[in-house]
Amino acid sequence: MNYSQYTVHSPQTLNEALGILKEKQSEVRLIAGGTDVMVLIKDGVLKEKELLNLSYLDELKYIREDGNIIKVGALTTYRELEKSSVVNLSAPILVDACKTIGATQIQNLGTLAGNLGNASPAGDSLPPLYVLNANVKLQSAESERIIPVSEFFLGPRKTKRAPNELITEITIEKAKPGLHYFFKKLGLREANAISLVSVACIVDLDKDKKINSIKLALGAVAPTVMRAVKSEKLATGRQLDLNLIDEIARGVSEEISPITDIRGSTEYRRRAAYGLVYEGLYEALMGTAKRVSGGIEGVY
Ligand SMILES: Cc1cc2nc3c(=O)[nH]c(=O)nc-3n(C[C@H](O)[C@H](O)[C@H](O)COP(=O)(O)OP(=O)(O)OC[C@H]3O[C@@H](n4cnc5c(N)ncnc54)[C@H](O)[C@@H]3O)c2cc1C
Repeated sequence: MNYSQYTVHSPQTLNEALGILKEKQSEVRLIAGGTDVMVLIKDGVLKEKELLNLSYLDELKYIREDGNIIKVGALTTYRELEKSSVVNLSAPILVDACKTIGATQIQNLGTLAGNLGNASPAGDSLPPLYVLNANVKLQSAESERIIPVSEFFLGPRKTKRAPNELITEITIEKAKPGLHYFFKKLGLREANAISLVSVACIVDLDKDKKINSIKLALGAVAPTVMRAVKSEKLATGRQLDLNLIDEIARGVSEEISPITDIRGSTEYRRRAAYGLVYEGLYEALMGTAKRVSGGIEGVY
């Protein structure tokens, strides 16, 4: 591996970074934690010869509360999200997903913006971002715009980011205290594995287990992460019981469009999605699923 062939730009401020990006556009590859980009370099497949190193941009390292919203700076790492009290209290589904990403070393370096920028349908932070109604802020030297995460991806490795834009912030909605949630991921081994299927779900059950609302997002089962909107619709307003759990899980397994690849076949992924959704909703029915605490005493 010969790093000397790369020109590395290391701006110290966001303005400086946006200026370089304005000039270089697609000639530079953005690099944050480097946990995806360094693999491309090691494998000799990175086509750009210049790197725009974002790691000195301290102004993009933050987690802030703003009313019902949590604002996450683009350079925030998984470990920082895992340690954040507001994220644990009001978006714990994201914490659960972060804890499954690689091992400690990867969680110390990898960033949320890097997972978005990498645009893999198997990116593990993405299903939670979908069910938390996340928005992605894109900034260029001239302007900024905000795109819902559900509209950000165009396909595997493809996003709406223009070559002169940086992801600078991700905003997520706080989940209401008391809601049930689960993030489940199936890989080829227990830890340090790419998702074969992943599911994020937030479900609002009333005291009689009627579903007031449900959000279900799946990873690695379509060209981009997707919401299972048909299944969400069929479930809303109905009494959660074993029959409905089976109906929802079957609906999800039919609604997805997984491919066959080295990790698993289409049929296997459909069955895995069925199993993960069934298991999560069964836990909600039995009262053993996790619940958003929101920091309110008495609500688990
Ligand atoms: C051993 C190992 C295990 C892994 N396990 C998992 C796993 O379990 N689950 C999972 O989802 N991922 C996993 N990954 C992939 C990787 O860790 C994540 O995708 C991580 O979030 C990437 O973040 P980063 O900051 O390191 O990104 P980088 O590698 O720096 O960049 C990734 C991509 O995002 C772009 N980018 C970075 N920052 C920005 C920005 N601010 N604006 C726009 N584009 C940007 C880069 O140009 C690049 O295309 C693993 C990687 C390794 C090496």
